[in-house]
Amino acid sequence: MSIIEQMRKSGFESLTDDDLLKLLTVEGETQQELFAWARDVRRENNCDDVLLRGVIEISNVCNKNCDYCAMRSSNKDLDRYSMTAEEILGIARLIKESGIQIVFLQGGQNPRNDTLLEQVIPVIRNEMKMGVLLCLGERSQEVYEKFVKLGAVSYILKFETSESELYKEITGSSLENRLKALTWAQSAGLQVGTGNIVGLAKQTLKSLVNDIRLGISIRPDFISSSPFIPNAHTPMEHQVHGNVNMTLNTLAILRIALKTAAIPSVSALESLVNDGQRMGLDAGANVLTVNFTPKDTQSLYKIYSERRFVVSLDHALKTIDKAGLRVRKTA
Ligand code: SF4
Repeated sequence: MSIIEQMRKSGFESLTDDDLLKLLTVEGETQQELFAWARDVRRENNCDDVLLRGVIEISNVCNKNCDYCAMRSSNKDLDRYSMTAEEILGIARLIKESGIQIVFLQGGQNPRNDTLLEQVIPVIRNEMKMGVLLCLGERSQEVYEKFVKLGAVSYILKFETSESELYKEITGSSLENRLKALTWAQSAGLQVGTGNIVGLAKQTLKSLVNDIRLGISIRPDFISSSPFIPNAHTPMEHQVHGNVNMTLNTLAILRIALKTAAIPSVSALESLVNDGQRMGLDAGANVLTVNFTPKDTQSLYKIYSERRFVVSLDHALKTIDKAGLRVRKTA
């Protein structure tokens, strides 16, 4: 009996940290068996259809200074922008026309966006009848409650790494506070998404196992794993990128553990390897994010530097087709 067959027989709940560590590093035939296990879990839980969401990167102004991100506040080599409400609503209409039912508003951590959000969220939710997903950083419980009143449905706040010292070192802020903000978002009634980065310097295999344990303990509605990509004009620009296989293995483990969670196959996978997002779907993911930020603005949203792969609707549909899956009809 193969190692994966043995683990399947005993069930995910009985896997030890050593078992997870082994799963993180599997390759070849054993990795394919892991992915098949993840796909079986996805199918058995009726989660095979791929959810599409349309992202609008509303602003690259951020008051945080994360070492891995070129939108960090101390990067003076970046032209900053913030979209107007009219621009955002115009793009949201394009998302609706494309058939996608979720508008994903993403931007730096900047409370100045609040006035803008008060103008756009109710229109997208109540007039356009679309779902609203936000990724705008750590805020207070009151602000999350306000977002819910405005019409937001879900919120992404990735923990990036479960190692509190490493988190502090690379973001200049506290992991405890970030996790607290996640619980505030949950208490406010938002569905929450979280996730980690694979391949940060000083990260160990053990800390990736802890990432998986932390991700599961949050009981998120959606969860991602992204390979680290070095970004120009940041203190981490000369570091090596994260391991794609290990990221795919993380996705598969999260699928097996969290069963019905929405799991994105992130664009960073495609940046590092051709067909990377199809591989993410094969590993158990079931979400793709299509980028609707206008072309002239995309280059200023520097989350993945020059290696960034911008996902078009055409690419997303072809990727779903290649994975032998279908687009989910309801949001
Ligand atoms: S990762 Fe997010 S919070 Fe950190 S600097 Fe970049 S945009 Fe700001």
